[in-house]
Amino acid sequence: MVHDNKMILKGLNVEELKSWCIDNNLSGFRADQIYEWLYLHGVNNPDKMGNLSKKCRDAIHNTQSLSTLKLISKTVSENKQTVKYLFQTTDSYLLEAVSMITESNRHTVCVSSQSGCNLGCDFCATAKMGLLKNLSAGEIIDQLIMIRRLSNTRIDNVVYMGMGEPFLNYSNVIKSAKILNNQKGFNISVNKITISTVGIVSKIKKFIQDEERFGLAISLNASNDNVRDVIMPINKKWSIQDLIEVNKSYVKKNKRKRITFEYVLMDGINSSSEDAIELSKILQSAKCKVNIIPYNETDGKYKRPSDGIINKFIKTLSLNNKNNNFQIMVRWSNGLDIDAGCGQLAITNNKGE
Ligand code: SAH
Repeated sequence: MVHDNKMILKGLNVEELKSWCIDNNLSGFRADQIYEWLYLHGVNNPDKMGNLSKKCRDAIHNTQSLSTLKLISKTVSENKQTVKYLFQTTDSYLLEAVSMITESNRHTVCVSSQSGCNLGCDFCATAKMGLLKNLSAGEIIDQLIMIRRLSNTRIDNVVYMGMGEPFLNYSNVIKSAKILNNQKGFNISVNKITISTVGIVSKIKKFIQDEERFGLAISLNASNDNVRDVIMPINKKWSIQDLIEVNKSYVKKNKRKRITFEYVLMDGINSSSEDAIELSKILQSAKCKVNIIPYNETDGKYKRPSDGIINKFIKTLSLNNKNNNFQIMVRWSNGLDIDAGCGQLAITNNKGE
């Protein structure tokens, strides 16, 4: 990546940093030092990278631009626990990330993998933007570096559930997740890094094949293809059955880890007791987790069911989970007052101009 005729070092892995060092007549071990400064310490100014030689600092100064994002605004929820950050890339695209810090100081960050999205899920606010740009690994990582600095709180959990479809930007997403996991990067366990996909089955197969250990979530959102076809057009390419099949291959490869199926509950769309029974049937033989997410309203036509309907759905689902094949979780989103809940991230003036 190039900015102002300078390369962008952020987002490079150790091997790439090594070849950059060699190209610049620097010893290879400098790569490990630069890696730690960039990711572990989040330092953007080469002069503050204490253990580097002057020659190395100069090389960075002369050829590298280290920051990829600018903070545009920050919105804090009433209870102060959720903060939505709006960032701009150096080529002027906008994206959002959400930081959630609980009372016990657990810090989860929801990052974007694309500016916008072109999958057209009918209920999702980001879909209205269309796809503007695949974010580079550096731009993904920089969301976390900046939030860690601005909040002054270490990050425990990362979810790729912000704007965009991570598996349509597969290599940058996996590369960024590896930097998050690396001990000299963010040192976050693979179990605390979750990638959520709409169900791009070709890439899910690659993920399984490559034995990636990060958590995997799939947005199911319907108990039959008729409904899923309407709310998630990608279903015409890969149906619910395809997702159940791919879950089987995942279970075969991973003895203990489970895929999480996300199910956004929308009033009158997928929230009846019949829907709950149908969902339990689909998942009957699928070893997995199910995350029920009551819909966070945006300007569109979809509505969040009443608490009564939500609770009835969950109860029916669990009563029909006869063999305890799937584990049920419920996500009552935070930050709804600042439109920072799942699927509420959208920017109307796309390029921020
Ligand atoms: N494209 C990826 C990741 C982004 S969306 C994916 O689809 O998985 C992350 C989650 O938020 C998905 O499960 C999606 O179904 C859900 N979501 C989208 N809009 C929502 C809304 N308005 N309320 C609640 N959840 C929503």
